[in-house]
Amino acid sequence: MSIQQLSEQIQKANHIAVLTGAGVSTASGIPDFRSADGIWEQDRSREDYMSNEYFRHNPIEFWAKYKSIFQMKLLGNYQPNAVHYFLKELEDEGKEVSVITQNVDGLHLEAGNQRTIEYHGTLKTASCPTCNTTYDHEFMMAHETPRCTTLFGSTPCGDVLKPDIVLFGDPITEHDRAEAMIDQADLLLVLGTSLFVMPFNFLPDYAKYSRNIPTAIINREATSKDYMFDYVIHGDLTEVIEELKET
Ligand SMILES: [Zn+2]
Repeated sequence: MSIQQLSEQIQKANHIAVLTGAGVSTASGIPDFRSADGIWEQDRSREDYMSNEYFRHNPIEFWAKYKSIFQMKLLGNYQPNAVHYFLKELEDEGKEVSVITQNVDGLHLEAGNQRTIEYHGTLKTASCPTCNTTYDHEFMMAHETPRCTTLFGSTPCGDVLKPDIVLFGDPITEHDRAEAMIDQADLLLVLGTSLFVMPFNFLPDYAKYSRNIPTAIINREATSKDYMFDYVIHGDLTEVIEELKET
């Protein structure tokens, strides 16, 4: 289970499905929202605030907390890092690469991986629950509580926008599409996630037991699912990716 062997497996693959988590974003300086020292643990009530229920009942307070918890002011400052670009380079080499990410920072798309599923949504946009108009980050930041400006006749819609991230209590809508991507893949690569979060953490089982394709995980810490992977590498993701590129 060496890096050399994994490198050969990657070279052989035609279509790689990649599952990514917070460990990919932290190398861009983005805080890990869920890890042991991540911000959810610092204040458990944040999980209650970032819920569908809180949004429905207190949309104005929700927006203030949302912008602060996700440090929305800084969102434009973050750039893709070597891990994002590694996946883009695989695509440039002619492989099919399907990225299924739990990250909400939009950096896989920014790095250029067109086939990306943002499984938990994105911080980059917000949409109107009434008329579905989508607004960008700049609009969200320009208004304390962003409201829909679409005109119906001469009357603006006016509804408070809902962020396009999956809030606690929101349904996951991308799971079937994620499985369909894995259906086409001949290798599953899991990067920078401890696989705590359901139902995202069912996807490796799907690849392994329903599809029977080789599976690899690279993560800083051991995970409770390591046993089911063909390749398990623990270490700093950026360093491991650098080593992979050199082999
Ligand atoms: Zn609207």
